[in-house]
Amino acid sequence: MQKLNSLWQSSWTLCGLILFELLLNSCSTGASIPTVSDDAVELMVRNEAAQIIAVSEDRDRLSEYQIFLSDFPRKDILGMSIGNHRIYISHELAKLASKRMSYLWMLRQTLAHEIAHEAAGHALQGGATHLNLGLFARGVSSGDVGLPWNVKLRNYSPEKELEADSMGLQYWQKLGWDCRIWVGILKNFEEQNYAGDAYHPTDKRLQQARGICLREEKGGVI
Ligand SMILES: [Zn+2]
Repeated sequence: MQKLNSLWQSSWTLCGLILFELLLNSCSTGASIPTVSDDAVELMVRNEAAQIIAVSEDRDRLSEYQIFLSDFPRKDILGMSIGNHRIYISHELAKLASKRMSYLWMLRQTLAHEIAHEAAGHALQGGATHLNLGLFARGVSSGDVGLPWNVKLRNYSPEKELEADSMGLQYWQKLGWDCRIWVGILKNFEEQNYAGDAYHPTDKRLQQARGICLREEKGGVI
């Protein structure tokens, strides 16, 4: 873990980043999230996504996936999924991932998590449980992703967030990717005192990931 720690400490310029995903209210305004065109980076992200989709429940639906790059106004948003196999990835993260391995792993975690939301059909499951949010539990709003203020966004429930992490870790295992890297990313969030929010509690995500990773190691996978 020493090596991983130093890896993440040296690459923490995207301070405070965490996975935020939301569900676009389909009957709102028809407004779309602003995207960025960057062919080389887009190709890299699509290739990364394709190998994850290939080991997911959606392995036969690769052609249905649309992956976009976006410069989210709120800089701690790494990625989001809005249903119908549409995923948005932070352009800043993707650019860094094409240059540095540490960010490539962060991108792979983000993609696995978002693909899991899609494969599980989370966006299609209405009536998501909403918490009573406190002052420090702000979810993602329309302005955070470059949408007009009158577009309503809905966050996935914390249960769905943890499920997406769990499924994402399964994809990593199938690809032979070390779950300790996944754990290391969340551990770094914690070390930077980034607690997440009510939808993405870093402590619960880290606790779950550690448990899954430990079971993988005991099972002789690593
Ligand atoms: Zn999520």
